[in-house]
Amino acid sequence: MTINWFDEHFEIPLVLGIISIIIFMLLLVVPASICLSRTIYVCDKCGCRFRLKWYKYLLALHMNDDRYLRCPRCKKKNWCSPSYNQNGNNIDIDK
Ligand SMILES: [Zn+2]
Repeated sequence: MTINWFDEHFEIPLVLGIISIIIFMLLLVVPASICLSRTIYVCDKCGCRFRLKWYKYLLALHMNDDRYLRCPRCKKKNWCSPSYNQNGNNIDIDK
């Protein structure tokens, strides 16, 4: 794998290149998902308001802002939308 840095060329092993790309992605994706996982979602079925663990947020199937999540109260999987009221009381955290 060759890296072009202005007029210089660096020859690095392919594995090292892949590892550095993965590390770079993790450095971007993990803090972003930790930050975004603070969003409160509302269950369509029972109206339960909940927050997700960051890795569940990262892995959840999504379409626009809606995510396919398991509700922590009624345990059913369905499409959940972000709550309009993001600062609220009695929030169930998905454990
Ligand atoms: Zn529910």
